[in-house]
Amino acid sequence: SDPVSCTGGDGPLPVLGRDVRVPLATGGEVTYAALDYAASAPALQRVWDDVAAYAPYYGSVHRGAGHLSQLSTELFEQSRAAVAEFLGCREGDQVVFTRATTDSLNLLASVLPRGTRVFVFETEHHASLLPWRGHEVTYLDAPRTPQQAVATLESALHAAPRGPKLVCVTGASNVTGEIWPVRELARAAHRHGARLVLDAAQLAPHRPVDLRELDADWVALSGHKLYAPFGAGVLAGRADWLTGAEPYLAGGGASRRVVRRPDGGVDVEWHTGTARHEAGSPNVIGAYALAAACRALSEAGFARLAAREERLLARLRAGLAEVPQARVLSLFGADADRVGVLSFVVEGWDSSRLAAALADSYGIGVRDGLFCAHPLLRVLLGADADASGECGAPQDAPREGALDAVRVSFGAGTPDEHVDRLVTAVQALARRGERG
Ligand code: PMP
Repeated sequence: SDPVSCTGGDGPLPVLGRDVRVPLATGGEVTYAALDYAASAPALQRVWDDVAAYAPYYGSVHRGAGHLSQLSTELFEQSRAAVAEFLGCREGDQVVFTRATTDSLNLLASVLPRGTRVFVFETEHHASLLPWRGHEVTYLDAPRTPQQAVATLESALHAAPRGPKLVCVTGASNVTGEIWPVRELARAAHRHGARLVLDAAQLAPHRPVDLRELDADWVALSGHKLYAPFGAGVLAGRADWLTGAEPYLAGGGASRRVVRRPDGGVDVEWHTGTARHEAGSPNVIGAYALAAACRALSEAGFARLAAREERLLARLRAGLAEVPQARVLSLFGADADRVGVLSFVVEGWDSSRLAAALADSYGIGVRDGLFCAHPLLRVLLGADADASGECGAPQDAPREGALDAVRVSFGAGTPDEHVDRLVTAVQALARRGERG
């Protein structure tokens, strides 16, 4: 039988928090429906069990002589190898452990050769849009089809001056769930001597991400969106720019040799391997958990996970289609390939009030706001979508008249009932109206 799933077949994978009960404003309580996987997915029970089995044995990494230090060092490096396999790394590629996708992309930004020109679509998450300070950045207009994305990139690269170039693109949108034509964009980049980094924060939990197959140069992702706990992420890919630059962080672990010079200064020789950008004591448990998640997902099989998700997505879309006041946000149109992420607005409802009503009256956890993708929300909702939905800020009192959206996102641990409850709730709330 399937070693990952207790339910087997088409059921959800066991995740933490699946039995949490929450009170309802209307009285009574209900099992919490976590529909905010795109922000952070619940950890797979299997990942938690793996971490619990290792936890009593963990020790210092890379430096200790004791048994547990050696075991931890071995498990840390095995975790790196497991992630490399999961991501289809090529000979010579490096897997650097980071804190998360934001950290991975800032690390890459710190190693770009002098004069690198960066190309990024305005539709990106701020983590992909903003780390390139200090470099020339070409912001590309939002495309309305995947083909247009390739054509837009191609003509921008064609018009660019000679010199190193980097394209940063997301694999699946954290707002619309739409899948981007990564392989075609990577090929276009390479045709023009550019390199491509894939922001796979939203793609990797739902579809296989294989550097060889996608022909991407680097990939960045976050453990906490990949069914592992918080605190660990990855930047994986080509070694040359990584070893050709100063370390991202300076300190112990990254330095091979430090000597005091006769003139009183110090000379430092930095490591050339992954240690170069992993200064300080590494997050061994985080790396171990991330690797455990990679193994669990591979064993469950993306074909099965994606098929299940598509079925839930079809159910969600059909349910929302019956709500005349609801509008689903989309860049590429109804036929686009999508992961289990969908944003919508309901006429007559402020999105933050709608999200609060879903929580208070139905025990459903969704997200509302501009999802750290302000320019994209302006494209999807119209120019007057203001940026008052501060990215990452605590949700304060509802904002009068703000143009933002509600996002539903789900994955491997989501039972059908959560999606059905959401649909029933939106149908009832839309009929009732905000002031009903
Ligand atoms: N890229 C995308 C597409 C995302 O959805 C997110 C998280 N919402 C990030 C990057 C940033 O990930 P993290 O917060 O884990 O650094």
